[in-house]
Amino acid sequence: MAIEDIGKNALQVLEKRYLAKDAEGNHTEDVAGLFRRVAAAVAPEDRNYDENADTAALADSFYELMTSLRFLPNSPTLMNAGRPLGQLSACFVLPVEDSMEAIFETVKNAALIHKSGGGTGFSFSRLRQNGAPVNSTGGVASGPVSFMRVFNMATEAVKQGGTRRGANMGILRVDHPDILEFIDCKKVNGDITNFNISVGITEAFMQAVEENRDYDLIDPQTRRPVGKRSARELFEKIVDAAWRNGEPGIIFLDRLNRDNVVPSQGEIESTNPCGEQPLLPYESCNLGSINLVKMLAKTPEGYAVDYGLLRDTVRQAIHFLDNVIDVNNYPLEQIGAVTRATRKIGLGVMGFADMLLYLGVPYNSDEGVALAEKLMAFINAEGHAASTALAAQRGAFPLFAESIYKDGDLLRNGTVTTIAPTGTLSMIGGCSSGVEPVFAYVYIRNIMDGTEMLEVNPVLREKLQERGLYSDALMRKIAKEGTIAHIAEIPEDIRRVFVCAHDVSPVYHTRMQAAFQRHTDNAVSKTVNFPHSATREEVAEVYMLAYKMGCKGVTIYRDGSRDSQVLNIGSVK
Ligand code: ADP
Repeated sequence: MAIEDIGKNALQVLEKRYLAKDAEGNHTEDVAGLFRRVAAAVAPEDRNYDENADTAALADSFYELMTSLRFLPNSPTLMNAGRPLGQLSACFVLPVEDSMEAIFETVKNAALIHKSGGGTGFSFSRLRQNGAPVNSTGGVASGPVSFMRVFNMATEAVKQGGTRRGANMGILRVDHPDILEFIDCKKVNGDITNFNISVGITEAFMQAVEENRDYDLIDPQTRRPVGKRSARELFEKIVDAAWRNGEPGIIFLDRLNRDNVVPSQGEIESTNPCGEQPLLPYESCNLGSINLVKMLAKTPEGYAVDYGLLRDTVRQAIHFLDNVIDVNNYPLEQIGAVTRATRKIGLGVMGFADMLLYLGVPYNSDEGVALAEKLMAFINAEGHAASTALAAQRGAFPLFAESIYKDGDLLRNGTVTTIAPTGTLSMIGGCSSGVEPVFAYVYIRNIMDGTEMLEVNPVLREKLQERGLYSDALMRKIAKEGTIAHIAEIPEDIRRVFVCAHDVSPVYHTRMQAAFQRHTDNAVSKTVNFPHSATREEVAEVYMLAYKMGCKGVTIYRDGSRDSQVLNIGSVK
């Protein structure tokens, strides 16, 4: 595949947001130049381990890996590799300690990270509660939520000048005395909008919910119980808020820590903004995604997964991501040191739903879930094998001897797999995002001069054209209905496979997330979509199901529950 085969929308995204510009705003590179720049920045790191390495040939192979759209590294790598900023990671977690100096130090560090295109996650659980005494001033503390507003404002100011909007995750433990204020902190539309929020939940709490018991609220300073609350009531409050506007999500802290590869370095308290990457304080991680659509081979019977190509792609991707850790210019020295100690990377996938369409497998079927599991098990195993092979040449990650892996094969990377949302990467890849089902098959876009443009999912277009069924009128009908489930002109065998996010039941959304989670070191970014008519009880059931199925967290969204939502079905955009 040549660079000219990259789709029109992808080129637009790259030109608008990714190509290097001079002071006057003129592009100083084209799309081929961008990928050359990235490949040329990442390949030479091989010389650290082998002074005779042929890094020119490696750069060519990385160039081909990216321009074929088989694999793309996360946005900061595309934007910044080989450029003066040189900050290549998408994900960071920073500590928030309970002192004025520490809080504002973290505000500053977060601003530096946002400026460079990274996203930050924080736990506010160590901050003393609203109303607690402040010894040095004799006053009272204003609590975690008030400080979240400060972080939010700082993000707002930085986003004017940075490359990306700036995104945060805010977490509060369920046993923090301010938990109610936290759950409601985004209730007013337009409040704390630069944050996603999640309640940090413990298994003890979930057991208390199931047994309808009280649980203790803990003073973050003294670690002593300061009150009791009904677990079920609090759980219902979380569910109610999420039902109202999609937040807070929940994350299962014990599960994040069960997979903490180096427990000696402390507890994992937070994830990155979209929830897929749990990290220690000051740790960062660079992600990358394999485009599964490009892993298909055409056979006389149709399409099939080319596992040989997938294996080669995983190996190249792991090599690429491991080099990124070395070439990365970290925003703080401490972040560099902590990151290099565990060398976490996060290889994931995008285009999973589109792949299923080519294979003729419905997303909401046992076969779909089984395929997810088989694919991710393969990627995870090959990814670990590739990391072990790198460890043989380059050494294991420095904290390996303290890690949960110490008795097994050497590993170059503390974690290997993560499933990112791929919000922009999937636009560049021209495929469905992450492991989400297709949101809508047809959109109508209003162009400025008043004309309308139809955006049709490429797999649906191909399928309908093959059968002689494609027409603009039919596409408009699909755009209006939002789903093709009830369109009589489309044969049943197509309707069964071309399901959209709202045709997939919340239970299947959750089963799919759990299937990917079982074979992912870090976590899975996934939204469980509900129809507008869903009840709170249905939301509660999904929270319980995700807990029982071993997910590391849950994010839900009920259609139409926010004033402005990013994606709309059944409406003309
Ligand atoms: P991309 O497709 O651009 O590489 P993803 O949508 O996969 O990014 O998001 C991956 C991670 O990148 C997020 O969880 C978050 O940590 C970070 N991120 C995404 N969007 C932003 C943003 N606008 N500002 C800062 N960080 C972001």
